[in-house]
Amino acid sequence: MQLALSAAGRVFNFSAGPAVLPEPVLRQAQQALLNWQGIGASVAEISHRSAAFMAVAVHAEADLRALLEVPDDYAVLFMQGGATLQQVLVALNLATPGQAADYLITGHWGKTALKQAAPYVDARIVASGEAQGFCHVPARETWQLSADAAYLHVTDNETIHGVALNMPLLVEVPVVADFSSSIASRPIRVRDYGLIYAGAQKNLGPSGITVVIVARDLLERAGQPRAPMLDYRAHLERDSMLNTPPTFNWYLLGLCLAWMREQGGVAAFGARNAARAQKLYAAIDGSGGFYRNQVVAAHRSHMNVPFFLPTADLDAQFVAQANACGLIGLKGHARVGGIRASLYNALPDTAVDALMDFMREFQQRHA
Ligand SMILES: *Cc1c(COP(=O)(O)O)cnc(C)c1O
Repeated sequence: MQLALSAAGRVFNFSAGPAVLPEPVLRQAQQALLNWQGIGASVAEISHRSAAFMAVAVHAEADLRALLEVPDDYAVLFMQGGATLQQVLVALNLATPGQAADYLITGHWGKTALKQAAPYVDARIVASGEAQGFCHVPARETWQLSADAAYLHVTDNETIHGVALNMPLLVEVPVVADFSSSIASRPIRVRDYGLIYAGAQKNLGPSGITVVIVARDLLERAGQPRAPMLDYRAHLERDSMLNTPPTFNWYLLGLCLAWMREQGGVAAFGARNAARAQKLYAAIDGSGGFYRNQVVAAHRSHMNVPFFLPTADLDAQFVAQANACGLIGLKGHARVGGIRASLYNALPDTAVDALMDFMREFQQRHA
């Protein structure tokens, strides 16, 4: 098979994160890295408090709010420390010491969230898909919810196992949702959540910056004794510039958000992401068992599609040969092995077609 290179010599990048960024964004950033807006300095070389950078921050928030239709009674924060730090901060900010907090576990990241919060709250497992190998979401009627929970934590999309929640939650307490690998992949109702967090490096932009969208009334909770650096209110008061923010990452994120709006926003991406994921799952299911995905149909992720070949040796050959054809980042996470194709917003449709061509050819050669 021929090398699947783009005009700029860029390969098709299926990496789970940090992941592919839109090519027009990279071209703009390339320019801005040397001499930004004619100021004779890089966007990465100026003060975060300069008028020029403050405008970047303001635009990024406005574009994120417009993209996700964030209501005014929700605050938006741009933070560091990744999604993992948020898993600590939600416990410190939304619960009193030792208060009950509910966790729905549908994959690896739900377990991480529980582990990060456990020193600070009475973290309770509402239901877990682990015994079945994280290939489904436990049925809603089996969930053991606590009436006194500070919140319910869920993972909208489990990046490693390819499990999407894809269901109404119907709970009384505020929902805290890890959207790291699915934010802006489809329209959502922000009001269904108390707090949404997402590391940007999957579907939104570069690594090093994390988005938090939180109902302002939740910020009135006392929470736990904590330093200002760990307090959402302190970050909000200083417009996410409590200390030096990751300015270049913020700038890149802003370019990505503007690009997503130009491309038609989350409605357009939602339709596109659903169509191409369905195409890929159909190819897997139609391969006569050569390729296998074990997730139940209703909870298959549109963002991360894990699959397995008949042997681990064939998995390794698949990854190596795909790589040689310009299809990179397909190796499954070390925890589960196999293959994983991440189909984020910035991945062109032609990449999915190239992958499906490669899969057909590989099967013909090895079945
Ligand atoms: C990648 C990922 C994380 C971890 O993100 P970091 O930014 O590395 O802390 C957490 N949750 C989900 C769903 C992820 O995909």
